[in-house]
Amino acid sequence: MKRTNGFRTGLLSIVAASLLILGSSPLAAKGPLQTQTQQTTLQKAPLTQTRIEAVLKEAYEKFKNDNGGKNADYIKALAEVDPKIFGITLVTPDGKVYEIGDTDAQVSIQSISKVFTAALVIQERGETFLQEKIGVNATGLPFNSIMAIELHNGSASNPFVNAGAIQSTSWVKAKDSKERWFKIKQNMNDYAGKKLAFNEVVYESEVNDNKRNQAISKLLDAYGRMGSDPLEATTVYTKQCSVNVSSHDLGVMGATFANHGVNPVTGKRVLDRKYVPKILAVMATAGLYDNAGDWLYLTGTPAKSGVGGGILAIVPGKLGIGVVSPPLDKYGNSVRGQKAAAYIIDKLGLNPLAQ
Ligand code: GLU
Repeated sequence: MKRTNGFRTGLLSIVAASLLILGSSPLAAKGPLQTQTQQTTLQKAPLTQTRIEAVLKEAYEKFKNDNGGKNADYIKALAEVDPKIFGITLVTPDGKVYEIGDTDAQVSIQSISKVFTAALVIQERGETFLQEKIGVNATGLPFNSIMAIELHNGSASNPFVNAGAIQSTSWVKAKDSKERWFKIKQNMNDYAGKKLAFNEVVYESEVNDNKRNQAISKLLDAYGRMGSDPLEATTVYTKQCSVNVSSHDLGVMGATFANHGVNPVTGKRVLDRKYVPKILAVMATAGLYDNAGDWLYLTGTPAKSGVGGGILAIVPGKLGIGVVSPPLDKYGNSVRGQKAAAYIIDKLGLNPLAQ
């Protein structure tokens, strides 16, 4: 007891002495100011190879045994994917790759594909089209909501809910659905800088069970919002969701946005620079389903997740982050994916809203 008291007194003197040295009031030493100081220090620290590697390793070690969440099972094949897969890849705009874990393990891209098809539509038809025809607002309702369409006068609200994504697919310029699929796939290959594989098992599993998406496409068609046959567009959409990606692929795809639309590995421009902030804005608004606000609040970054367990986060001008880990939280976002990406963004002082 005595020792404890002595320890406390000692501690109090140290705190008092520090305050005197700092010349500040006790209030000034509290939370927000300290956080601010730390953020500034972090932002000023250069993003060196050593720092990136250290933080990446920390994130991996910290979350590799996190067993939270559960694989998606409403698409049966997704329940079969190994829940232990955990890969993290960071790619800088000059094409340097930092990665750890199962960075070659592939999962179906699912909802993350919506980003690339929306990017293709904005590239072909411009920003007014995307905003007016599809929308750029959050729905506040689940990603596959039919009610959201009815509540908003037949508008899908944004290209990252299923309605808006199927709509985007339908508006990709092509003479038929075969060519439309080819263009969508080629576009994703360009972002990844390689030919991505197609996951037949996931496709077969979903295409026989996508009645709700078919219903959404028909409803949008009834409102005159589809650019091509609704059921054909739903099939192409299901195909785009069944493309395989690894954390490595997602890292490069993210870095293409971070690098203002030029793939840093191949050097190919895949999106006009002026459209990059538009797509990132929609990712910030609606990328992580109904939890997009919390994610933005935490990290300040545009991101997109998919029910296959992938997550893509972008620090504009600085970093593309790809994480793969199939178990999802109740919103449909990868548990370890979010934790690892948020940790890395925080520890490297990369929150874009704090720059
Ligand atoms: N293909 C999935 C669906 O339409 C994508 C869902 C997602 O990743 O959010 O349900």
